Amino acid sequence: MRRRIAEPYKIKAVEPLSMLSYQEREEALKSAGYNTFLLDSKDVYIDLLTDSGTSAMSDKQWGSLMVGDEAYAGSKSWYRLEEAVREVYGYKYVLPTHQGRGAENILSQLKVKPGDYVPGNMYFTTTRAHQEMNGGTFVDVIIDEAHDPQIEVDFKGNVDLNKLKSLIEEVGAHNIPYVCLAVTVNMAGGQPVSMKNMKDVYELCQHHGIDVMYDATRCVENAYFIKERESGYSEKSIKIILKEMFSYSDGCTMSGKKDALVNIGGFLAMNDEDLYTRSRELVVVYEGMPTYGGMAGRDMEAMAQGIYESVDDHYIEHRIHQVRYLGDQLQEAGVPMVRPIGGHAIFLDAKAFLSHLDQLEFPAQSLAAALYLDSGVRAMERGIVSAGRNKDTGEHNQPKLEMIRLTIPRRVYTNNHMDVVADSVIALYEKREKIKGLQMDYEPPTLRFFNARFSPKEVSLIHN
Ligand SMILES: *Cc1c(COP(=O)(O)O)cnc(C)c1O
Repeated sequence: MRRRIAEPYKIKAVEPLSMLSYQEREEALKSAGYNTFLLDSKDVYIDLLTDSGTSAMSDKQWGSLMVGDEAYAGSKSWYRLEEAVREVYGYKYVLPTHQGRGAENILSQLKVKPGDYVPGNMYFTTTRAHQEMNGGTFVDVIIDEAHDPQIEVDFKGNVDLNKLKSLIEEVGAHNIPYVCLAVTVNMAGGQPVSMKNMKDVYELCQHHGIDVMYDATRCVENAYFIKERESGYSEKSIKIILKEMFSYSDGCTMSGKKDALVNIGGFLAMNDEDLYTRSRELVVVYEGMPTYGGMAGRDMEAMAQGIYESVDDHYIEHRIHQVRYLGDQLQEAGVPMVRPIGGHAIFLDAKAFLSHLDQLEFPAQSLAAALYLDSGVRAMERGIVSAGRNKDTGEHNQPKLEMIRLTIPRRVYTNNHMDVVADSVIALYEKREKIKGLQMDYEPPTLRFFNARFSPKEVSLIHN
């Protein structure tokens, strides 16, 4: 008999959602230039733009805001956060930062020098930017399967050890300051890394005297996939699995805005005392005193509590299953998407969805706009618009993957909301040939996806 699981929390405060009519959404979409980034939150019904900083806090977290210690130096809330990170992540030294990229900045400044190579399991935008700003070159060492949206692999975020070994041979260990291992891999669709792979990477790096620094942003989600898929872990708690994961690393950067269940915050952690001492110096310059690092006392208090809540086995089980609950419905209806379903989002394959459109008609942008028009659900384009133009030729970069991301915030929506999203996507899929392409009317010179404006190439976006 089927046994379903429900949200392991009940609702204490509600935030009413705006429910616009089709005509009102049409107006809003038009004034946003058919770009979901430019829609106002007040016009959005279900917001799946990102899982970053959008988590719902618990009653205990809201309560902890009141006991936050706002002392400039030596805040009690800092010691609570430090203790939470030490206990749950296991590192000796911790420094607070305003968010994940604050930690990336400090780590990259201290470790990356011009001419260095920083291997990683697929890039992330801000992480790579910091490595490059310090003169480093990012090298992708993820397994080939990660670049194919259709291949079903349990641990699609794994490092290809042969790629890493070849890089070490080619450029020399002394030119590799550290390996940056993301758990899970955001840009591959929230795909996890296996415990065995973490261990193998760590052993290889130790042999060559290279540090392993995790991008721990979605580490709890990664731990759940290990529990589910890797032999020997099904009976272990998430907390135990997480501790073992971090034992195969020398430190991490962390965005609290994802798995730590808060709206702002982050940290840098490590075991090496010398690196810690030098990092403290830079925290003072870029973030704040090492006992607040860009966060208010109350934010540190809420993050400490969020870290403990994030390793609750029931919480994370529901989290992963909710993403899958949405994905499975779409899969059953034949909607093309990235497989397997990852930890934080469903990525729809807009190229296959709108196969009648040329990539230069911005299929993912069109699909994201059509989804908003149909139901008020906001998704994000990850395709030709995000990829920008080639610096030398001035032509559009035409990426292989043309996708929209439906990112699920943590503890925010119920499975009924997921049903609404599924119904809308499926309805659009059934009349997909009626969805028309867009033309770009305004193109900003950098990071164009944020501010670009579009209009339908024909009279309307969806021909009803
Ligand atoms: C969000 C994110 C970061 C950066 O964190 P911020 O808190 O947004 O600065 C780094 N790596 C990954 C994989 C992320 O998803």
